[in-house]
Amino acid sequence: MFTKAAVLTALASAAVATFAVAAPAQAETAVTTALPTANMEAVLKAAQIDPRRADDTLTPGAHDSVLLVEQALQAKGLLASQFVDGYFGTSTIDAYSAYQKSLGYTGIDASGLPGKTSLEKLGENRYTVTNPVSAGSQVTYHSKTLNTRTKAMLVAAEGIYGSQVALTQGSYNPGGVDASAGTHDGGGAMDISVSGMSSANRTKLLTALRKVGFAAWLRTPAQGFDYHIHAMAVSDPDLSSGAQHQTGDYYLGMNGLAGRGADDGPQVTKVTWEEYQRG
Ligand SMILES: [Zn+2]
Repeated sequence: MFTKAAVLTALASAAVATFAVAAPAQAETAVTTALPTANMEAVLKAAQIDPRRADDTLTPGAHDSVLLVEQALQAKGLLASQFVDGYFGTSTIDAYSAYQKSLGYTGIDASGLPGKTSLEKLGENRYTVTNPVSAGSQVTYHSKTLNTRTKAMLVAAEGIYGSQVALTQGSYNPGGVDASAGTHDGGGAMDISVSGMSSANRTKLLTALRKVGFAAWLRTPAQGFDYHIHAMAVSDPDLSSGAQHQTGDYYLGMNGLAGRGADDGPQVTKVTWEEYQRG
């Protein structure tokens, strides 16, 4: 039979022994444990589609990455707990926009669509960013301003189509001529002339544009436009808010116009430029 004092001494010894073994193991764990990863491609896709959904369906493959972003926004006091759910809806867009503004960004840089710099900054000590997407720098192609990502996409589409095209409007063009307000303010946007182009070739070009990652539609006089192809590069981090709505609607089977009619373009598997390049 043990005395009370003997039991306490034994317990104390056991506690010391446990601590002596456990302490180095914990220190080692703290150093070597990797942070979770947030997939930027998945976050961008959800940030375009989810705000346009009529329900709370999650964008496939995006939940875990979006949740990390939302938890970080919540930790900064920018997002209420009921919206921390892996769904990048309008409240998350607003919270992300507020975060971008807190970093000093304005205009399309504070649209609520994550860019690589803000996404990494938000994730400090919380997550690391994988699958980064960059709009690149602004360049002139076919006499219009595009970014390097959009230009590479158009060059690839022209290769599939088998001919070069003429642009009537490019990107980064606030106050532009497009009747879809603001869609050309940011990156990823372009209008293509279809003057003299047969109906079959218009469809062939739309198909090529969609295959490489554009949300592209033929705009018509019946819709209030001169005939042209309006194309937005899906998941371009520089998309304006209006353009984000159109790429989201493209994924949801709509035509990108204010009336949100049915998609009237050729049916092609919807991909981003990054997904197209991986094949
Ligand atoms: Zn346009």
